[in-house]
Amino acid sequence: MARAAAAYYAGRDPFGRGGDFTTAPEISQAFGECLGLWAAVTWQMMGAPAPVRLVELGPGRGTLMADALRAVAEVMPAFRAAAEVHLVETSPALRAAQAARLPGAAWHERVEVVPAGPAIVIANEFFDALPIRQFIRREDGWRERFVAAGGFVEQAVEETPALPDTAPEGAVFEVSEAGLAIAHQLGGRLREQGGAALVLDYGPGEPGFGDSLQAMAGHGRADPLAEPGSVDITAHVPFPALAAAAREAGAATHGPLPMGLFLQRLGLMSRAAILARSNLRQAGLILSGAERLVAPEGMGRLFKALCLCHPGLAIPPGFEPA
Ligand code: SAH
Repeated sequence: MARAAAAYYAGRDPFGRGGDFTTAPEISQAFGECLGLWAAVTWQMMGAPAPVRLVELGPGRGTLMADALRAVAEVMPAFRAAAEVHLVETSPALRAAQAARLPGAAWHERVEVVPAGPAIVIANEFFDALPIRQFIRREDGWRERFVAAGGFVEQAVEETPALPDTAPEGAVFEVSEAGLAIAHQLGGRLREQGGAALVLDYGPGEPGFGDSLQAMAGHGRADPLAEPGSVDITAHVPFPALAAAAREAGAATHGPLPMGLFLQRLGLMSRAAILARSNLRQAGLILSGAERLVAPEGMGRLFKALCLCHPGLAIPPGFEPA
């Protein structure tokens, strides 16, 4: 799966109407703008360190970061001046798209090689693209499911990650070792060097079972095993486990919160209303795009926002307890 996912992104730009799926920054510019302001306020709470690494994991077309930078240049130029943009991206096709929008950024293959120092990290729909391992409960214990010869095969496993004893037969349990390793690494970095990370993605707020492996092609569901590398394969992000991995490394965590609530607290709908007033011809589209991000029946409930940060940092915007 890892290879299939990497191969998928390496060869194409999958976003938007002609592509296989769309993401929040491609739906509304207010998304990136609000996250830029989130980063700016968080930077002030950190004591306004200069320079600060402004890091994005899996930036796609670079839309979120471009919208964020435009907004902060206007509202908080001191943060724009202090921010050094670092992008973690493996796909050559998407790096080229990002370079066109983000001149002056630096690119990295992995999170670990982003230069040391205080950092603000944003990851939208990054963790869902990382490989997972799937286990299924059978009568005689846990078996791991693999993709082989175009289908699933199951194999008894001697050593599994911690899996719940109470799982009923047939239960599927997913472990995102790659995602957990990155959350742990980020947690350690933020504890040592300061800063905060904002993770936005879809997945349950509570731990649980379930086969979430899914594939998207042409905006519809596709068979995840058809033509590896040609469809987008993702899995739900296990937010409680990611948060626990970061805490284990010494970071504090806030959330996960439903993304709609988080974005509303950041003022996304007010920003969209301003954009709509200044572009009356597109007003309907602008407002319905923003609505889709916050509405529970849109992306507002299934998507979550999670913050990992230095334990001494005050609660970042949007994560205040209700
Ligand atoms: N954040 C963007 C794109 C999400 S798609 C948006 O919201 O529109 C996932 C992104 O993660 C793509 O840019 C993809 O190329 C990148 N990616 C996937 N696996 C990766 C990995 N292991 N390391 C770095 N980037 C990866």
